[in-house]
Amino acid sequence: MAIDFTLTPEQRELRTEARDFAQRWLTGVGPATHALSDPEERWRATRPIYEQAVAEGWLRRILPEPLGGESRGMVDFALVAEEFIAVDANVSLTLFAVTLGLTPLMAAGTPEQLAEHFGRFLDPTGAPLAAFAFSEPGGSANYDAPAPADGVRTTAVLDEARGEWVINGRKRWVSSAGGWHGEGPDLLAVVCRTSPSAPPDEALSVILVPGPVPGLTLDASLDLLGHRAHQTPEITLRDVRVPARHLLGAPGSGRAIVAGSFLPTAALVGVFALARMRAAFAYALAFARRERRAGAVPIIDHQAVGYALADAKSAMEAVRSLSWRACHALDSGSPAAAELALHAKVFGSETAVRVVTDLMRVVGMESYTHENPLAGILQDTLAYPLFDGGNMGVRRRQLHTMLADPAYDPDTTRP
Ligand SMILES: Cc1cc2nc3c(=O)[nH]c(=O)nc-3n(C[C@H](O)[C@H](O)[C@H](O)COP(=O)(O)OP(=O)(O)OC[C@H]3O[C@@H](n4cnc5c(N)ncnc54)[C@H](O)[C@@H]3O)c2cc1C
Repeated sequence: MAIDFTLTPEQRELRTEARDFAQRWLTGVGPATHALSDPEERWRATRPIYEQAVAEGWLRRILPEPLGGESRGMVDFALVAEEFIAVDANVSLTLFAVTLGLTPLMAAGTPEQLAEHFGRFLDPTGAPLAAFAFSEPGGSANYDAPAPADGVRTTAVLDEARGEWVINGRKRWVSSAGGWHGEGPDLLAVVCRTSPSAPPDEALSVILVPGPVPGLTLDASLDLLGHRAHQTPEITLRDVRVPARHLLGAPGSGRAIVAGSFLPTAALVGVFALARMRAAFAYALAFARRERRAGAVPIIDHQAVGYALADAKSAMEAVRSLSWRACHALDSGSPAAAELALHAKVFGSETAVRVVTDLMRVVGMESYTHENPLAGILQDTLAYPLFDGGNMGVRRRQLHTMLADPAYDPDTTRP
């Protein structure tokens, strides 16, 4: 049994190249966007950097090898994600959200659907966007709750005469769903209700909407606390028509597709959290070694500061180990994958908020200004317990359901 986490030579090279790209290009996101007050302007200003990422093959490198990409799995993805998000959470999320947008297609698409929709994302030109339209205004934590709950409110009705789905509804928070010009992304996977009366397991479906498409409008680009240069919009779908063949899987299989799509991302949120902690730690450590704050010795020589840094590093190592285990479990199809991914998400995200705040206390008052990176890192980090399903509403409920199941075996996660 090998549990030494040794990377292959190819993985070490991938990580070095990811770090190199992040230093060359992603360090430019802040300077290109900080002075812009409008969220849509900030997001559009990142387009040249995103195009560079695509041109240098970073989208191909995170799409799976069997489908024409170059990724050998979630562990490879985690290596890239850590290097990218350690430098910038905005363009990185735009890039990674493409894989979320494509996950339903990758998981449930037929060879014909893959041939029709996937190729665009392997082409290293332009700025292709895919998005997963799950969240809605008014809340989505209970998207699969049975009546009398509302659940998913976006509807799709089959116009049999024309062989088309007609989609109506609103979506909110969906990364990149407005597209670069407010007409939608290249591909939008829309979670919608295809049966008004069936139970949740049979009522929801995921339908592909290639963009630009008539009837999709960008209503607002939300001005977030963090991820300031990433598009999180509100969109309306009004009588949006797509061919009947754009439905993924069997009609009514949407609930399973949604659940499956958010598991890989749960493991990745652990990695995102680690990456933001890493950036905060690098700054705080350098500050503590350098600064005397008008005292006689660098502040790292004070025991309280040294201990705080040590505790931060312990927490980071724990989050990395857990997140990598979750990624490895997903890659190997382990029965422990779902639970480990959820632990990585919940533990990683909440640890990161605590650790970044602790590191701000190490630096002190100077951390509370945008003249140094910690305030921005905290702003980004605060999203992690909330997005990809909030820890309260979804992740805790999922873990809770798992534990309450009489068939649950706590040793499933034991290697
Ligand atoms: C930067 C960013 C990018 C995002 N990208 C996407 C994307 O690409 N696609 C997408 O679809 N969404 C996206 N989102 C939205 C995100 O994934 C949210 O997790 C999702 O909208 C659900 O939000 P919520 O958990 O707060 O649910 P809500 O339904 O708004 O619930 C709010 C709160 O109510 C409580 N609650 C509700 N129900 C329960 C329950 N059953 N048990 C316990 N507590 C409950 C919880 O406290 C919960 O936090 C993004 C968000 C951000 C910030």
